[in-house]
Amino acid sequence: MQILDGKAVSLAVKTAVRDEIAKEGIAPCLAVILVGNDPASRVYVNNKKKACAFCGIRSLEFTLPENTAQEELLGLIDDLNRDETVNGILCQLPVPKQISEKEVIARINPKKDVDCFHNENVGRLWTGSFRLKPCTPAGVMALLDHYGIDPDGKHCVVIGRSNIVGKPMAALMLERNATVTVCHSRTRNLKEICLQADIIVSAVGKARFLTADMVPEGAVVLDVGISRLPDGTLCGDADFDKVKEKAAWLTPVPGGCGPMTIAVLMQNTLTAYRIQTGAVGK
Ligand code: NAP
Repeated sequence: MQILDGKAVSLAVKTAVRDEIAKEGIAPCLAVILVGNDPASRVYVNNKKKACAFCGIRSLEFTLPENTAQEELLGLIDDLNRDETVNGILCQLPVPKQISEKEVIARINPKKDVDCFHNENVGRLWTGSFRLKPCTPAGVMALLDHYGIDPDGKHCVVIGRSNIVGKPMAALMLERNATVTVCHSRTRNLKEICLQADIIVSAVGKARFLTADMVPEGAVVLDVGISRLPDGTLCGDADFDKVKEKAAWLTPVPGGCGPMTIAVLMQNTLTAYRIQTGAVGK
């Protein structure tokens, strides 16, 4: 088994973004909004800010209390939409229950939607006319590309159908000519379907859900899931020590798909800058 090293590849992607920014002498800016005190969200936001600093992207953080009213958050998004010095806007999800995730996503100017969650960008994704990329799925594709694994004609089984991971993952795989099966909690015969896969992308969020008996010999396994075990360590969907005996390629958790997500976010911020400055088509 060979490791798909997300840490190393993400560094290469971020370095390329940093070099482009430095060469052009530009200063893209990403605004990150965090509502509430979720510790995992705090870690993600800190990692995103660190990546911005590395790439030469200016980052602005807006931290709002847990009880923030939806209108207040939407007002902040309106301000950031109007601010021409802000190129990307990201509201860390999940948001507290009094706030509608859908309304938040819909309010962000699609040209600044560096998460690629806005309906306009989702539409562009499915019609193949996208510039901003869904971060986690595009990170998976970048990993495959780095290691020369071409999905063309392969059977890709995606486990999970969320708007953030599973569905956009299926769109990107289709775009690259994979034959795609999307599975979810109502799927029957998940194991049998997985055993027909060349590539498995697991985005369930249950520790050690993907067991070795679900993985065909020689498959490529991309583990997007992140769960925290009782001892505080992070764990993916795959039962790593056993799956590694079957898979030809496997991502570790941490150090696999997670860092790639942030690397694509950096690329998207640069792309958003270019969309707004007219360097790429609006
Ligand atoms: P989500 O919205 O909870 O979606 C989980 C999906 O798993 C759902 O589609 C669900 O099916 C499916 N599922 C649950 N139990 C299942 C079962 N027994 N068999 C088959 N499918 C099952 O989660 P998400 O936002 O997509 O995230 C998934 C995981 O990826 C989480 O651990 C999250 O932390 C992680 N994640 C990582 C990154 C990264 O940067 N690496 C980014 C985003 C998310 P139903 O739709 O039928 O309920």
